[in-house]
Amino acid sequence: MYTDTLLLIDGIWSEASDGGRIAVVNPATEEVIGHVAHATPTDLEAALAAAQRGFNVWKNVSPLERSKIMRRAADLLRARSETIAMLLTLEQGKTLGEAKGEVTAAADVIDWFAEEGRRTYGQVIPARAPGILQITIKDPVGPVAAFTPWNFPVNQVVRKLSAALSTGCSIIVKAPEETPASPAAMINCFVDAGVPAGVVNLVFGVPAEISEYLIPHPTIRKISFTGSTPVGKHLASLAGLHMKRATMELGGHAPVLVFDDADIEATIALTVQHKFRNAGQVCVSPTRFLVQDSVADRFIDGFATAAEQIKVGDGLDPNSQMGALANDRRIPALERMIEDAVDRGARLVTGGRRIGNKGYFYAPTVLADVPQDALIMNDEPFGPVAVINRVASVDAALTEANRLPFGLAAYAFTGSSETASRLREGVRSGMLTINHLGLALPEVPFGGLGDSGYGTEGGSEAVEAYLDTRFVTQKL
Ligand code: NAD
Repeated sequence: MYTDTLLLIDGIWSEASDGGRIAVVNPATEEVIGHVAHATPTDLEAALAAAQRGFNVWKNVSPLERSKIMRRAADLLRARSETIAMLLTLEQGKTLGEAKGEVTAAADVIDWFAEEGRRTYGQVIPARAPGILQITIKDPVGPVAAFTPWNFPVNQVVRKLSAALSTGCSIIVKAPEETPASPAAMINCFVDAGVPAGVVNLVFGVPAEISEYLIPHPTIRKISFTGSTPVGKHLASLAGLHMKRATMELGGHAPVLVFDDADIEATIALTVQHKFRNAGQVCVSPTRFLVQDSVADRFIDGFATAAEQIKVGDGLDPNSQMGALANDRRIPALERMIEDAVDRGARLVTGGRRIGNKGYFYAPTVLADVPQDALIMNDEPFGPVAVINRVASVDAALTEANRLPFGLAAYAFTGSSETASRLREGVRSGMLTINHLGLALPEVPFGGLGDSGYGTEGGSEAVEAYLDTRFVTQKL
């Protein structure tokens, strides 16, 4: 049932102009399951011209009409969610249940932005003298270029796409070559819902070649990137050089602060599930567990036991609770980090090995008492590995939580309202969730600080990121 993926340019699905295509591999079987068209500079030029024409049309469609078309796309996405989830699992490796959850959550994102786009109000600012009018007007920034990764092939696209469309922008999406069919099927819901030709364009190819072509191009007015911090810094500098607006959703290294007054068993149950979701290939994945001394051994044992019970297998198998890693690069990357930690004195409590010799399966892994200079304590592991270290106090936990230049997600568990309020004040991260898991809803901010990037992809500020504010004053 897996289909080849084409480019979408000016409302038409087509092969690359030179017929170029790349293979798509199922990470659970390592078999080639299809191909994706590989855009040439001629295709990119055509996409840019289409995006400009699309913008000229879409910016003049009323917010109400835009909202109706977007909501139709959301309904189509829900109706097609079983099929799209299947494509997602086949190309990305996550379990079918997770894939289904991603697709239905994407429909909710579209609905939310469809409504929020109707509320892009300007202001009337009181004047200093009678007879003077002062107003602000919100305009869509223009055609957008969006670059998205393979870990949430549908969801990483849908936030950028929905925010752009809700404000009247057109967009060229450069979606991941490794997982192209599910985002293409999601985008096709917008085509079928009646988005005019040229408003949404989809390309694939060599990521660096495409970003270096699109970002400096005068047609593009804003870029949005999700991916690693080094690539984000490169693209942000390119955007700066050409004075383009930019949103950067980059890597993280989420601390999880667990204090002895928390419900330890409930915390373990919640965080094990969250850690190994999408095999840990999540920018907000809990990574550094900082557990108060007095409960650390209990936490490590309980967490490792629960990790060992996770059934790892082909995402299509209904018994699987964790699928394959998304690509072959993740296995050596993880092996290097785990080996380095153990060499430096960390304790490998469980996991630390590949499963089988076909498919990119890796055992849920727990490392304890990891020295601060280990690679894994400083770089994003982006895989199914939890580090559990001991901390003596709230101060020590805060110092370690804030040690790295990243600041995306943070988690905390405590029974003390005093500790909770110190954490609210003291944890330096774009998002903090205390005593539950409450991140990534469409209506709340989603973004980081420091090396984790800037801008947000949720909540009302996500809409603002696609709008210019103009000021007009008039003597009446
Ligand atoms: P990578 O850094 O090469 O690529 C990350 C993403 O950026 C990919 O989607 C890739 O297509 C894209 N990319 C790379 N170079 C680009 C360029 N010059 N222009 C435009 N897009 C470009 O590495 P990778 O092996 O794919 O992933 C490894 C690391 O990336 C992970 O360890 C993780 O830290 C990070 N990552 C983060 C997220 C996230 O959600 N923030 C998602 C995927 C990967």
